[in-house]
Amino acid sequence: MTGEFDIIAEFFLPLTQGRGEAGALQDDAAILNIPENHELIVSTDTLNAGTHFLEDAQARDIAHKALRTNLSDLAAMGAKPYCYQLSIAFPEKPERKWLEGFTRALLEDQKEFDIFCSGGDTTSIKGALSISITVMGVVPKACAVKRSGAKAGDKLLLTGPVGDAYIGLKALRGALDNCFNAGVVKAYLKPVPRLDLADAIQAHAHAAIDISDGLIADLLHICAASGVGACVEMGDALFSKSGHKLIEEGRVNAEELLTGGDDYQLLLAVPEDAVGQFSGAQIIGEFIEGAGVTVKDEAGEILDIKHTGWSHF
Ligand code: ADP
Ligand code: MG
Repeated sequence: MTGEFDIIAEFFLPLTQGRGEAGALQDDAAILNIPENHELIVSTDTLNAGTHFLEDAQARDIAHKALRTNLSDLAAMGAKPYCYQLSIAFPEKPERKWLEGFTRALLEDQKEFDIFCSGGDTTSIKGALSISITVMGVVPKACAVKRSGAKAGDKLLLTGPVGDAYIGLKALRGALDNCFNAGVVKAYLKPVPRLDLADAIQAHAHAAIDISDGLIADLLHICAASGVGACVEMGDALFSKSGHKLIEEGRVNAEELLTGGDDYQLLLAVPEDAVGQFSGAQIIGEFIEGAGVTVKDEAGEILDIKHTGWSHF
């Protein structure tokens, strides 16, 4: 393994799984093949060492996170995975063991979520490791779901509890004494993109977003794009058992879990008569005329949430 081309041939070529579109990585670009009457849905997410993953993160954990967070964006649009481009900037020549762990994890996820690598870019950087994936999916024409379709009266659905990834990151950083629960660590390291809901989302959701920055921040994005407000009611559906337990023990508060981010569950705006089509999802509130998000506790009191979620700058 000498230069970048040997790395590509040995480690990245197998990620194409022999698909013709990738042309065995012998060409300057991939040639994609979109099924008739479908549209291509494209999204890019970058992970930088120290910002999106801990500097000492394992190669396999970085790989899972990079591909899964991208797949979550496809899920939020109601799209089905097709292929992805992988761009990596290495601060120094990567070790064989790192590349093996990284590509093995990508291949596992490729098989689980039915996607292949169509190409990418391999570079060096005077800085920290940076991994950027551009994921591509397909939807039947005009069936992609956007953030802008929510209507007053729609129910607000959450596809699974939030806050576990926030707790998992805290636990990994050693900031939660005696809390090392494999479930929450997995929620942070290996989120599950909700691609299983693609058909229901295409058919029934008015709007959708995946929760990467925090439930409140991402709900605000739907509200702003749709020109509506939303009201969230505190209840059991919001947090996992671990989350509830830590709140009871006073070790985290609900606001942290609602704004922590990295959840990769989906928030959906769904008309009331279609709520039953989203198995496992729970109603956590509704969209209303107006703007902004209010959160009410069990007693109906409005919570004052000062910090809504993650932002880079
Ligand atoms: P060019 O110099 O023409 O941009 P490259 O040398 O960057 O081409 O890439 C050669 C081939 O290898 C291309 O098909 C590209 O898609 C593929 N490739 C490069 N890096 C990666 C990577 N990290 N993962 C997958 N494919 C890659
Ligand atoms: Mg290139």
